[in-house]
Amino acid sequence: MPLPRVLGDLLKLPTAAFVEHEVLAYIRKSCARMKGVTLAPDAYGNLLAHYRREPVRGRPVCFVAHTDHPGFVALEMVDRRTVRAAFRGGVKAEYFPGARVIFRSAGRWIPARVVELTRIKPLKAIGWTGRPEEVLLKVSAPVAAGSPGMWALPDPRLAGDTLHARGCDDVAGSAAMLALLARLARRQAVGEVYCLFTRAEEVGFVGAIGAIRAATVPPDMPIVSIETSSARPTTPIGAGPILRTGDRMAVFTPALTLFLERVARELSKRRKRFRFQRALMDGGACEASAFLAYGFEATGVCVPLGNYHNMDVTRQRIAAEYISLADWKFMVDWFEAVVCDEVGYSGQERVDRQAMDAEFDCMEHLLRS
Ligand SMILES: [Zn+2]
Repeated sequence: MPLPRVLGDLLKLPTAAFVEHEVLAYIRKSCARMKGVTLAPDAYGNLLAHYRREPVRGRPVCFVAHTDHPGFVALEMVDRRTVRAAFRGGVKAEYFPGARVIFRSAGRWIPARVVELTRIKPLKAIGWTGRPEEVLLKVSAPVAAGSPGMWALPDPRLAGDTLHARGCDDVAGSAAMLALLARLARRQAVGEVYCLFTRAEEVGFVGAIGAIRAATVPPDMPIVSIETSSARPTTPIGAGPILRTGDRMAVFTPALTLFLERVARELSKRRKRFRFQRALMDGGACEASAFLAYGFEATGVCVPLGNYHNMDVTRQRIAAEYISLADWKFMVDWFEAVVCDEVGYSGQERVDRQAMDAEFDCMEHLLRS
């Protein structure tokens, strides 16, 4: 199974919170080639794509994925061979000393190495030693201020079904939205969907909150937040994408969650190989919680992720993140089925009462006795 081009292309690009430019440029270029897809930036540089072909059934949903990944941003050269850089995202301090980094400056990658942690945010509450916010790195050549830096890990590669990359979270989710749009456009499918590519999620949903405040998405738009979320023994990699009933902060909108579940169940009847999981993924928070906080209906879908935020817990060192390519492909199939569903989302979805009524009717006499 070859690596889909959109994944290969996107996962090569540098990105970090507020410096997602190369990923955003790729998304603009791709959407420009898709028939029936419009794309517009909002006041904060988030990108909203829209696809519509009549007749539309139900309320269109808006998928959301973030284009950044925990990484470095060069601040200034403090001497000829040392750069001071911010680190934006949640990675434990013990992973930093001596770690290799690459900065993208003036179109080329410049190798670097962490030499000092100059500012660490203590995070005792969640059992962490702390999260570095500013570091010094030795560099082989000067790096321009504002350059994104990532851990020095190889370009994306596929080993069997496992896709390793510098940062799957959540460029892989953004790639899934692009794959969905490309598929809808290619077959001019009937349906309607919005896809919001957000910025700066790793520093506290900043791009998503900007999109809400700028009314990039109207307040009655149902939101489906896409993530890669740390795999657990009960939600393993390779067992299918996961319908998220909630995250660390919130429980998601039941009607919207039920709609996605119904679509997945029907898809698994049509396609024998399709698999999905359903779980409360409370290891982290996702943009669904930000939208819920502002009164939206929201739910989430994620693919299980290995080496969350590049932390290889077993070897205690920085490593490539990884996901299952099959999980990712099934997620795109699922999204397509959501957009093309014969009924669509109404907001009135409830747990099926028929079976409960039947059960009750059978046993009512016992209850009366
Ligand atoms: Zn993420």
